[in-house]
Amino acid sequence: SYDVVIVGAGHGGAQAAIALRQAKFDGTIAVIGAEPELPYERPPLSKEYLAGDKTFDRLLIRPAAFWQERNVDMLLGREVTAVDPAAHTVSTADGATIGYRHLIWATGGSPRRLGCAGNDLSGVHTVRTRADADRMMAELPGVTQAVVIGGGYIGLEAAAVLAKFGKHVVLLEALDRVLARVAGPDLSRFYEAEHRAHGVDVRLGVAVDCILGEGGTASGVRLADGSVIPAQLVIVGIGIIPAVEPLIAAGAAGGNGVQVDAQCRTSLLDIFAIGDCALHANAFADGAEIRLESVQNANDQANVVAKTITGQDAAYHAVPWFWSNQYDLKLQTVGLSIGHDATVLRGDPATRSFSIIYLKAGRVIALDCVNAVKDYVGGRKLVETRATPDASRLADTATPLKELAG
Ligand code: FAD
Repeated sequence: SYDVVIVGAGHGGAQAAIALRQAKFDGTIAVIGAEPELPYERPPLSKEYLAGDKTFDRLLIRPAAFWQERNVDMLLGREVTAVDPAAHTVSTADGATIGYRHLIWATGGSPRRLGCAGNDLSGVHTVRTRADADRMMAELPGVTQAVVIGGGYIGLEAAAVLAKFGKHVVLLEALDRVLARVAGPDLSRFYEAEHRAHGVDVRLGVAVDCILGEGGTASGVRLADGSVIPAQLVIVGIGIIPAVEPLIAAGAAGGNGVQVDAQCRTSLLDIFAIGDCALHANAFADGAEIRLESVQNANDQANVVAKTITGQDAAYHAVPWFWSNQYDLKLQTVGLSIGHDATVLRGDPATRSFSIIYLKAGRVIALDCVNAVKDYVGGRKLVETRATPDASRLADTATPLKELAG
């Protein structure tokens, strides 16, 4: 039995253990993780790691010695299959029962899969874990044509890496623009043009019928219109399903994620949830209940839980932020643009350094900054302070955004 059991050895789980020790928590801590690796950074899996620019060692969130020195037991390669909130225990797939005083659920999610025929052929990949990336990288030398299904961040990042490797890449998006769920149309159009300029065949508003195979291996993708795109590699990047089944089965409120309050408490006694799987009322979405899939959110929620467990006052109200690297473009996003009613363009996209500022009722709610770090830093203040600057001043690149925070 442990004072704190953390389920999930990813970004949120690792940070929860780190923050507990930083807060001088001296109880016993176990982190139970389904993957065999110590906690590592996931974002590079579709960026530097996939590109071969970073080795796995450099992805570790902390070296092995760190966890030993801080007395954090890493129980890896083990999956929690059930939670008994009354007994305060979790059960693992290998038959163990482990007791807890506090439980922190930090399980992220598993990639959504295509529902169509051929989705289990070899050569069809999702990108969530190191193992996923390694499998894909092992196949790459034999690949000349690739199809990426899904024009979200992960699909676009993977497409950029494959294009850089000289592969012929077709990117399929069901909606009429890429990044439709996270950004406004201007940013979508910019990224579509960038990918096309790098040779990626971006096709919008297309429906996948099935994946075709030969001898158990993918050979192409058939679209609803009957056309076939040849491919030896298919990457499916169509979102995740939060990994909350054991908690929901134990009676936790939720569905698409597990519901948490401002201290990240679930509806079950002594059980918290953080990160991609936590459905929370977000102040930067006007209090709407959302899940955020970002390192920032996982870390900040982990910090809130560590404070709560160690008896400090804490509530989650961090400004959401996110990044994405594609080609030589560094996108930094701050705030949430959902529900914006106006946008301001700051700078010229042709220079490949510009920002799009999202407003709602005159208030700055989000920015997408492309190769524009200063805008990101200054814009963060605008979002934090809910500033209502003049649109003409926002557009004026001679005026630093930090001066408009009021
Ligand atoms: P995770 O980091 O996914 O950790 C959850 C862990 O729990 C996993 O190891 C999983 O195996 C384990 N687990 C699940 N169920 C169980 C169980 N029942 N028992 C035991 N263990 C279990 N975010 C950004 O901010 N910027 C980016 O540029 C960015 N790029 C990304 C690129 C890729 C390819 C991916 C996949 C994600 C990216 N993200 C990015 C998102 C970011 O990685 C996630 O938001 C973050 O990892 C969430 O942390 P988490 O702790 O909630 O989940």
